Amino acid sequence: ANRLTPLVAGNWKMNGLRADLAQVAAIRDAVAAGAVAGAEILVCPPATLLAAAAQLCAGTPVAIGGQDCSPDAYGAHTGDISAEMLKDAGASYVIVGHSERRIDHGESDARVAAKAAAALRAGLKVILCVGETEAERTAGQAEARVAAQLEQSLPPEQAAAGRLAVAYEPVWAIGTGVTPSPRDVVAMHGFLRQRLKTLLTDGEVVRLLYGGSVKPGNAAELLRSPDVNGALVGGASLKAAEFLAIAKAVS
Ligand code: PEP
Repeated sequence: ANRLTPLVAGNWKMNGLRADLAQVAAIRDAVAAGAVAGAEILVCPPATLLAAAAQLCAGTPVAIGGQDCSPDAYGAHTGDISAEMLKDAGASYVIVGHSERRIDHGESDARVAAKAAAALRAGLKVILCVGETEAERTAGQAEARVAAQLEQSLPPEQAAAGRLAVAYEPVWAIGTGVTPSPRDVVAMHGFLRQRLKTLLTDGEVVRLLYGGSVKPGNAAELLRSPDVNGALVGGASLKAAEFLAIAKAVS
């Protein structure tokens, strides 16, 4: 199979004030100078910075994405942001189903699937997150859990594969400094690839990202495998130098 272009995505979560747009500009300049040729670079700032970040990166290869979207296009949903609004603000991607959304906001697989469908409807590309908890892994249920999440959170459109990435993010590895072994990552990605091929006609072109405590020091060993098509990076994406070091490790 052809190697998929790796995607390195930064999820800023609820971090970033306007002064931090300097990090976006630094990423843009490094990418424009060819520092990470061979990888696609995406920054997902908080919604308050999205339009400004998109403006800074307009016409460059750096993509900007949202961290969540509503299943609805518009309406009486105070505080929510639709996929159409993200697109209008300059986003080309959106993350859906992050474990912090699933846990903090009680998002079900069905709701995540509706969000993914809304994103595709609006013309956005989707990063769909799945991952088991520590208790599920200890109980030997990691594969069953992510398989169920994947199946039930996928958007219905069969044609979506080219605009879909799936991030495997074990909940116990997010923000903890603890990661699975490279072998465990490869095993789970191989398993997810098989599931994707069964579920989607183009399942082999869906990029499979690893996420959870990726740092410059562990990126190469975690992400070098052909079964890993990039990374979703939280904490280490907030500083341009760290994020770029991770991107260089995969590109
Ligand atoms: C994330 O939340 O998507 C993530 C991977 O976080 P961190 O890199 O901080 O573990």
